[in-house]
Amino acid sequence: MRSLDDRNRGLFAKAKRFIERYQGDPEFRLKVDKGIADHSRDNDQDVDVSTYKCLEPVFNPSLLTPFTDDGFISEKWPLAYLWMKYVSTANVFRKQLVAAGGSSGINENFDSWRQRNIQRTKFELGLSSLGIVHTPIAFELSDGCSVGCWFCGVSAKKFRGHFSLKGGGEAEWRSLLHTAKSVVGTGMSSGFLYWATDPLDNPEYIDFLRIYREITGVVPQTTTAIPLRNVSLTKEVLSLASINRDFPTRFSVLSNSQLKQIHNTFTDEELLGVELVLQNSGASQEFKSAAGKAFSDAVSAPSHSKKRQQNLQAATIACVTGFLVNIVTKTVQLISPCQPSVKWKDGFVIHAEMGYKNHTDLGQVMLDIVAKHMPITINPAVPIRLDQGLSCVEENGKFYLVSRNARADFTQARRLIQLLSEGGHTPVEIVQKLRSTEENAFKVIGLIDSLWHRGFIGYAL
Ligand code: SF4
Repeated sequence: MRSLDDRNRGLFAKAKRFIERYQGDPEFRLKVDKGIADHSRDNDQDVDVSTYKCLEPVFNPSLLTPFTDDGFISEKWPLAYLWMKYVSTANVFRKQLVAAGGSSGINENFDSWRQRNIQRTKFELGLSSLGIVHTPIAFELSDGCSVGCWFCGVSAKKFRGHFSLKGGGEAEWRSLLHTAKSVVGTGMSSGFLYWATDPLDNPEYIDFLRIYREITGVVPQTTTAIPLRNVSLTKEVLSLASINRDFPTRFSVLSNSQLKQIHNTFTDEELLGVELVLQNSGASQEFKSAAGKAFSDAVSAPSHSKKRQQNLQAATIACVTGFLVNIVTKTVQLISPCQPSVKWKDGFVIHAEMGYKNHTDLGQVMLDIVAKHMPITINPAVPIRLDQGLSCVEENGKFYLVSRNARADFTQARRLIQLLSEGGHTPVEIVQKLRSTEENAFKVIGLIDSLWHRGFIGYAL
């Protein structure tokens, strides 16, 4: 909210706090809804019941129609107007992040691979793909996570230690960043330093951020579930993030009491750049992605708490379409988001996985992965297959390519899609087979090429 003037900043910060409390705390919500919230006793909250009036459309969207004029909203519900601007800015920001993830010409193979997977993800995941930013690189600074959320969408393992910048660690971190930058170019500006880890599990996290900023020009986004464990570290992170305001920080809120403590510990101004992700029981939108541990939970114990099951959404939380580097275990994976499944329960495909010894080796490993997995054009002599998240169905004489969330009519290319779903045929063989049924070879080649660029086909290796 860079654009807010000082008066509006203060107002907006209070409105934000009110909305968070309303959405996160079921008792508070009930009291406000009944008009009996006694704010004079609620001394940990700087809220006023008139705040609710100024925010009404946030809680009751039916007050607005697509034709409701912006000027009318800002006059009648000024705080709701500021909030709606804030939410729409976040959506624009996500789109900008997707665009910023390219290498700016440094690595054409990587960029085209990433674009193919962005297209494929849109078709495979439907609406839920809109929130995915397709970050080209993420670094894990620890091995495992100390928090242990039952629903962890990326199945974090138990915490087993962190990377230290001491004793040569800083030089190694700097070299790793320069090496990674030589492969993904300006895409480094949208990278971040966690995955199946909590960044604040690393006590030197602030120094990792400072060095990252020095080398890439940005302070990477932080998402943490332990903002209260070491408050002075969290405050340092918020302070650094507020200098550039490159990204909003996110706190995952795991309980109602944690929500109250967060509101009591951090000032309005500090929380202005923080998105609270309300994961706590009783939150009004207590949805969790059925990925990772939540996926395993649903599969292994479908009769588990009904509430747990009802609150699961078929979606992934994975947002990296690129490299995932763990600097403790010295491993690199090439990953991209997908619908969680028995095969990919964490909601991302692992296209490649390798170890590295040092920063020079990391560069070579990343380039080897690029060379092997990211050809720009399809090799006519290598067998290809339909992407694993796609299948075909016949319906009323039509032939569709379907994902869990979308379908496309391929009746005119039925035989081609059938051959692709069989897998095992090279493009040359497919053209030959279809030629015998009098398909035009150029048309078939064009279709295969278009399916390749949409990420619908890959090598059947
Ligand atoms: S959701 Fe985040 S904080 Fe919770 S276990 Fe997974 S990585 Fe750790």
